[in-house]
Amino acid sequence: MPTTQSAAKTKAADLAILGGSPAFSEPLHVGRPNVGDWNRFLARVNDLWERRWFTNNGPYVREFEGKLAHFLGVKHCIPVCNGTVAMELAIRALGLSGEVIVPSFTFIATAHALQWQEITPVFCDIDRSSHNLDPKRVEQMITPRTTGIVGVHLWGRPCDVEALSALARRHHLKLLYDAAHAFGCTCRGTMLGNFGEAEVFSFHATKFFNTFEGGAVATNDDTLASKIRLMKNFGFQGYDNVIYIGTNGKMTEISAAMGLTGLENLEESISVNRRNYCAYKRGLGDLPGLEMITYDEGERSNFQYVALEVDEGAAGIGRDQLLALLHAENVLARRYFFPGCHRMEPYRSLFPHAGLLLPETERLARRILSLPNGASVGAADIETICSLIRFAVEHGGDIRRELATRDASRPSQDTSLHG
Ligand SMILES: *Cc1c(COP(=O)(O)O)cnc(C)c1O
Repeated sequence: MPTTQSAAKTKAADLAILGGSPAFSEPLHVGRPNVGDWNRFLARVNDLWERRWFTNNGPYVREFEGKLAHFLGVKHCIPVCNGTVAMELAIRALGLSGEVIVPSFTFIATAHALQWQEITPVFCDIDRSSHNLDPKRVEQMITPRTTGIVGVHLWGRPCDVEALSALARRHHLKLLYDAAHAFGCTCRGTMLGNFGEAEVFSFHATKFFNTFEGGAVATNDDTLASKIRLMKNFGFQGYDNVIYIGTNGKMTEISAAMGLTGLENLEESISVNRRNYCAYKRGLGDLPGLEMITYDEGERSNFQYVALEVDEGAAGIGRDQLLALLHAENVLARRYFFPGCHRMEPYRSLFPHAGLLLPETERLARRILSLPNGASVGAADIETICSLIRFAVEHGGDIRRELATRDASRPSQDTSLHG
């Protein structure tokens, strides 16, 4: 999408937050959907329209299911209506109960999928560099009520799967992964989707690969797979025969048509994301106090997330100031996953002191910022975003002073950000 850009900033007052004109005329979003070929999608929509088969394990869902399993190299990959329901199904089919250990630094659905079934999410701290569960901390959170561990491959970067499976084995715990970010990513050359008892993907529109709404459970366990297949369709085995408690977790044909079209475009989506990620990396260079997440060159990654850690002391500008500054310029960066699940309801009321055991989570939640990526973000956009960030770091002192003066003169101004 063409966005017009205003002239480069030469002094603090040129910034939109201080009254200048925004760098972009249209908002740039994090997670604008990646799409495949429109005509191929349309041809599939035509077919399903003619067929009048819209849901209930139709031909596109079955084709999609086969292609997913083949792509991931996994025995079963069951399409579901969304990632959250896929998590709920996997959790229930695994028979989790009591307490389950999860990171707090994740999207809220990871915790909700447990709490929804009255299983207590026990929030565990993360490793400073990987942003994923710290296995040493996981071990300390195990109690007699613990039945499982849910690891999240945050930003598509794999958890320490070896340490976690050793731990799970030693303590007789079930191991499930929330792989919502990790479609198309590998761990030691094996596609994520093959680890733990099962792994769950999200195909939500903001994710790397989407089916509008959608998700899937991947597993190499035949028994678990057949249980989940029953559970996602009310427990029906054939007509008029319910053999299990279930829900409605079915994916629709139009979502599967979108998925089949997107799969054909996967390599293209990865290379666009990768190109953008590298452009950000070059553009931000070695600015003090800013650190972009890195992806292991030896693995496959989808490069969907351009997450930046802001160290206020070294950068001379805080994460929230940088965020407000970028929003004013129409760069809608996001604070994924601020403030951490433990600081959101119902968990903050249930576990008011959880943060005491989550120092790394709290630290990262204060520092992280996600920048726009995907096919709608071009090289010139990234250059502009990087020069805004460079400018902010170079003029941090001026900007902070100007903002403080303004805040002092307008104390009631609403500085809240988009949700
Ligand atoms: C998006 C997401 C989910 C939920 O997936 P939906 O398809 O939106 O229901 C779960 N976990 C994580 C980490 C996510 O980012």
